[in-house]
Amino acid sequence: MRLPRLPVGLATGIVLLTSTPVARAAASEPSFVVPSPYVIAIDPGHGGSPTSDPTQLWDPGVVVGAIMEKDITLDLARRLRTLLQKERVKVVLTRSGDQYVEISERWNRVHASGARLFVSLHVNAFDGDPSINGATIFYPKSDSLPFAQAVDAALGQSLKPYQVADDGVAPKPELWVHSDIPTVTVEPAYLTNAREASLLEQGDFRDAIAQGVFSGILASDPQIEATNQQIARTEATLAAQHQAEAAAAADAQRTVTAARWGAIVGGIVLLWLVMRFAIRRQTRLPQPPPYRRRSYRRRRSVSRRF
Ligand SMILES: [Zn+2]
Repeated sequence: MRLPRLPVGLATGIVLLTSTPVARAAASEPSFVVPSPYVIAIDPGHGGSPTSDPTQLWDPGVVVGAIMEKDITLDLARRLRTLLQKERVKVVLTRSGDQYVEISERWNRVHASGARLFVSLHVNAFDGDPSINGATIFYPKSDSLPFAQAVDAALGQSLKPYQVADDGVAPKPELWVHSDIPTVTVEPAYLTNAREASLLEQGDFRDAIAQGVFSGILASDPQIEATNQQIARTEATLAAQHQAEAAAAADAQRTVTAARWGAIVGGIVLLWLVMRFAIRRQTRLPQPPPYRRRSYRRRRSVSRRF
């Protein structure tokens, strides 16, 4: 009766070995999305170099010796962009290289970006009096005054170690007339002042300007930091979710592998048992007749007693 188990055992093993695991449910879609970043537009003032085309406009801004305002403003914009990007702000530049861009086109780019704040970067000049110095923040309309004051306060603090005077804020309605978001024009120092011109050539002074404007931007709207925290939390949650999914997939793979090995070992053991019983059954020798030793002893002891 044991031999028929051999095909049954083999069939079981084959079924276990060839069965594929049921595909896991597709990874669940995140039930939330990463919040939109806070957008800020930065305008590196001036730009462009003369070309072979005489009709092509170019604008270096203030030029003192070999120093040109357009190069300083682009460098300041890049430094400020780096600081803002660490705060997960989306930064839009009105020009990213040495290009001439019309004021109206700059504003179009700002408007199209969906920026909530706008910072135009320049350096100041005063022809005829090289002693004039200091940092000034211009704003176009009164609705930009709080933003101008926040940037002025932070920039004043940041430039204090360099003894650059804080000249405060001033309205300049002719600048950025179409502005409908908080807008400032930053003039951190005078290129026509020898001491400030040499400071403007230093990387650490430029970092201090960028840091001051950055701090003022952050202080002007708590929503920037709130958005940063929100994006950071969402990114962390998504990363944890992806990690958990990867761990679950690895776990499922280990379970499948263990099940396959279990089936292989089980099949081998089953096969061995069946073969052993089959071999025993075929080689079993006829048993010798039982030896009636007990009855003989009993008979002998009985005969001794009598
Ligand atoms: Zn300028």
